[in-house]
Amino acid sequence: MDYEKFFAEAIAQLKGEGRYRIFADLERKAGDFPQAVKHEDETSTRDVVVWCSNDYLGMGQNPIVIDAMTEALRKSGAGAGGTRNISGTNHYHVLLERELADLHGKEAALLFTSGYISNEATLSVLARMLPECVIYSDELNHASMIEGMRNSRAPKRIFRHNDPEHLDQMLAENNPEAPKIVAFESVYSMDGDIAPIAEICDVAERHGAITYLDEVHAVGMYGPRGAGIAARDGVADRVTIIEGTLAKAFGVMGGYVTGSAALVDMVRSYSPGFIFTTALPPAIAAGALASVRYLKTSSRERQQHQERAATLKRMLNEAGLPVMPSACHIVPILVGDAALCKLASDELLANHGIYIQPINYPTVPKGAERLRITPSPLHSDKMMADLVSALTAVWQRLNIKSAA
Ligand code: PLP
Repeated sequence: MDYEKFFAEAIAQLKGEGRYRIFADLERKAGDFPQAVKHEDETSTRDVVVWCSNDYLGMGQNPIVIDAMTEALRKSGAGAGGTRNISGTNHYHVLLERELADLHGKEAALLFTSGYISNEATLSVLARMLPECVIYSDELNHASMIEGMRNSRAPKRIFRHNDPEHLDQMLAENNPEAPKIVAFESVYSMDGDIAPIAEICDVAERHGAITYLDEVHAVGMYGPRGAGIAARDGVADRVTIIEGTLAKAFGVMGGYVTGSAALVDMVRSYSPGFIFTTALPPAIAAGALASVRYLKTSSRERQQHQERAATLKRMLNEAGLPVMPSACHIVPILVGDAALCKLASDELLANHGIYIQPINYPTVPKGAERLRITPSPLHSDKMMADLVSALTAVWQRLNIKSAA
């Protein structure tokens, strides 16, 4: 086999479909977020305003977080030095797990190296170990959950997005005695819609299913202490497992699950994705700990965040740009064509110093390609006005469809 030819053809196919991903080579600047420096080539750079970061609240540059990480780095050094089982458990991990369990009102929490791994590792071990388990999965669940379900080899049934009635019908068709997991997200990050958590819990409870909720795009940002949408809606105690990330609103890195002590202990004891990998560096755990603690008591960032998102949506709507309906802080603008979406993103960068990564298939369906904008508390009125006029100019130049 001509391996190199095969690799090149696989790439050529993506390029032909306008789906080839090019990474922006950025230098984030602590203290200046959302401004950053973009490296163009070996010798030249340019300043850009980042409008697509998942550092939703700017916690990645919060001095409290940076100080905690610096101190931990000086005290404990760079790496964890091992897996959690073999010398890698640092006191910061233990403190962070306690903090996360408390945040979600659960008995225990378990840290992973990312949100992706927490989903993959937990769902795969749960559905594999529960005898005859069937998983019920929202059709728009994230790739990491899908991967975990697939790796469990348990049968999976897909219910229509955010549709408790469809879930109810599907659950009713199954053996009432068999263990069942209902897996879903709270905030769906590409459309910005929110799950009816209470209704899904009603259905799951009626059929004796446990619930697995990914709150990756909600933790830090919703609920009185930043515990997410389930906490905001007062239903966190009804959700069996709440999963989150430390990499988005908390501004650092890592993922976790929270649940009952026995459940978390089983995942800790049986999950290859937890056991056979080096623990997070102590400084990362220390930074995440500081961030979670800070956002538990400070609501200022959450309020500013919501205000900024509402203001931007209003400004974009007034300018006639096709803002997709969103119930949260995520502001998607429909382009509807992969090549055009990439072109719009390129033009924003080249002519206006605005960086918004195009979102194409398979992340969103073909025909629903979009620019996904994530305003933070640190995006100023002036930045927003510049964004709206740049988008208007690009929409006109490329003849992209405006709002109906
Ligand atoms: N779950 C959802 C819904 C996500 O969107 C993502 C990442 O974007 C993840 C999980 C993975 O989280 P992490 O980036 O911490 O790996």
